[in-house]
Amino acid sequence: MRIGAHVDPADPLAEAATRAAEAVQFFLSDPQGWKAPEPREDADRLRAADVDLYVHAPYVINVATLNNRIRIPSRKLLLGHAAAAAQLDARGLIVHGGHVNAGDDLAVGFDNWRKTFAYAADSGGFPVPVLIENTAGGDNACARRLDALARLWDALGDYEVGFCLDTCHAHAGGEELLDLVDRVKAITGRIDLVHANNSKGGFNSGQDRHDNLDGGTIDPELLVAVIRAADAPVIVETPGGATGQGADIAFLREQLGTEA
Ligand SMILES: [Zn+2]
Repeated sequence: MRIGAHVDPADPLAEAATRAAEAVQFFLSDPQGWKAPEPREDADRLRAADVDLYVHAPYVINVATLNNRIRIPSRKLLLGHAAAAAQLDARGLIVHGGHVNAGDDLAVGFDNWRKTFAYAADSGGFPVPVLIENTAGGDNACARRLDALARLWDALGDYEVGFCLDTCHAHAGGEELLDLVDRVKAITGRIDLVHANNSKGGFNSGQDRHDNLDGGTIDPELLVAVIRAADAPVIVETPGGATGQGADIAFLREQLGTEA
């Protein structure tokens, strides 16, 4: 089981080294902005490294929305990130499930997801696995609770789609962690990546506030059980920089009985 962290994009391999991480996730552009990613000068070094790379798409992306002025640039930005992630031989591109606005029909949101994959297929398909991540909040989300996730996966049935399970988002989003992996896999058939985070917000609070693994409102033993059951690579997106994340990675290795 490869274990790593979400890190600053300036020098991901140095960040991996300070955390003894076997995997890193980072942004390729401002996560709150619409700028397309620039080619990285360290692409060769990143590709050659014995560290698995994951790219997180910007938070502004929402391919589900009925708002054209968000949805259309979201598709383009997602495809641009997939191309840039492929340049790095990234293992996956993580993108949030998105949502529709209050009063809009969620069914259209799921169909907008299908259109996003159709749009990518027109130019040969996404060149890296796209991992859709469950989210914590909102009443009109496509991937907050598993009933919505099942409808999303129905809509995407024709395409190869990956899934990223965020433990903080599941708990804060209102899904019990007990047996969660089985219930997710019954829908998606797969978990490609786990975002291992404790949660500052309580169960079903809707709050996306990550905490270190032994802090927060989730029993750390339950977190470890979910991660073990998922049997997928793990990225911690926890606070405290190299110290906090390094401790979280060491905690997981100890609990899971794996060596770096
Ligand atoms: Zn996450």
